[in-house]
Amino acid sequence: MSFPIRLPALLFFAWSVASHAQVTAIKAGRLVDPEAGTSATNQVILVENGKFTAIGANVAIPSGATVIDLSQQVVLPGFVDAHNHLALTYKVIPENNVYYMTYVMESTPLRAIQAASNGIQMLASGFTIVRDMGNNGNYADVALRQAIEQGWIPGPTIVNSGLIIGGMGGQFWPTPEMAIDKKIVYPEYLDADTPDEMVKAVRQNALFGARVIKICVDCKPWGYSVDDVKLFVREAARIGMKVEGHVQTVDGARRAIEGGLWSIAHDNGLTDEMHKLMAQKGIWRAGTETPVSLSEGNHTTAARFQRTVAGLKNAYDNKVPLTFSTDADYYVPGKTRGEVAIEFIETWKAAGIPAVDILRAMTINGYKVSETEKTRGPIKVGMIADLVAVNGNPLERIDAVRDVRFVMKDGVVFKQGGVMTPGAFFHGGPVNGWNIR
Ligand SMILES: [Zn+2]
Repeated sequence: MSFPIRLPALLFFAWSVASHAQVTAIKAGRLVDPEAGTSATNQVILVENGKFTAIGANVAIPSGATVIDLSQQVVLPGFVDAHNHLALTYKVIPENNVYYMTYVMESTPLRAIQAASNGIQMLASGFTIVRDMGNNGNYADVALRQAIEQGWIPGPTIVNSGLIIGGMGGQFWPTPEMAIDKKIVYPEYLDADTPDEMVKAVRQNALFGARVIKICVDCKPWGYSVDDVKLFVREAARIGMKVEGHVQTVDGARRAIEGGLWSIAHDNGLTDEMHKLMAQKGIWRAGTETPVSLSEGNHTTAARFQRTVAGLKNAYDNKVPLTFSTDADYYVPGKTRGEVAIEFIETWKAAGIPAVDILRAMTINGYKVSETEKTRGPIKVGMIADLVAVNGNPLERIDAVRDVRFVMKDGVVFKQGGVMTPGAFFHGGPVNGWNIR
């Protein structure tokens, strides 16, 4: 009975919010559409209530609008790192890049704060979406996503996996006393060896706030069978989630592909034959192709880099769906986490991949693997307003993406003139809702 009374009040409220919404008008000297591989000059982009409302050369700027002048710059959609670990940062000193030591020495709260910092550093380099694929500091990835979504701090949109699910031991080789007496594997990894445990592990991650499932297909010789992989895919699908597999052997890749994974992380097991199968099945490749410029600290070697480049080129030639992915989880002195991630374009350049396709991997393919392409990513009317601006056209020279001058996230300016201006993102409470889980 209260409906007829409330409706006019609700309509009045909606009208008054709409009529007072602040409009932001961005003057873009050039606007790049990576999907089409084209760019248009002198575009006006209107943003209202955090979304794009009009885009074009002849869009009128409403009176009272906040005008942002990017007429000397090139505007493009934000970047995606399809495989990062924001809550893990191992180092040469003191742990010689052995992250088992990092896990022992660094508390969960410290790793959570590192994740917040790394997220901000990624956003400053233009990464508006990060898939955070485990080694998550006991669900610090969830806390980070919630903190960003609720409105406490700035950061990329986080598509997080929760704990990595593996067969006994995960990626560790712990001693018996550490594994059995101290149960040291958890929470860095979630052991799941039987079908019941696999189902339960997926549900645990879903319960605690994962958005995608990450499994270790072949981290151990026992690994997961094709049927195991299918079980993970089926259980995750019931909850509306996709499954990424860590794969490091050809045999593991074969099982991952046959089992129907959404995405495969790392390139070690991805031969020409596996690439052909992935292309056939439309399985995303998150190859995490470390550039030789990051070889210090043993993140790659010259010989390993040559194999990485050859593998990426082979995947491109086979038309495998490619994402830009880094596996960044370490400290490179002098670089932010964002600068480490952007350095990975060097591998793509070395593989001879055209700038437009590098940019597609970094944008539209990233939105697709993150499943945001209908809500966030492309600069289109109705989409959530994320964008970046650089000097120079990355379609002509991909290195332009190295120096992101401007970042807008959710319609709010995060970086302008090359300087972070994050003040508008900080709040003393969950302004977007305490119940965002
Ligand atoms: Zn990884």
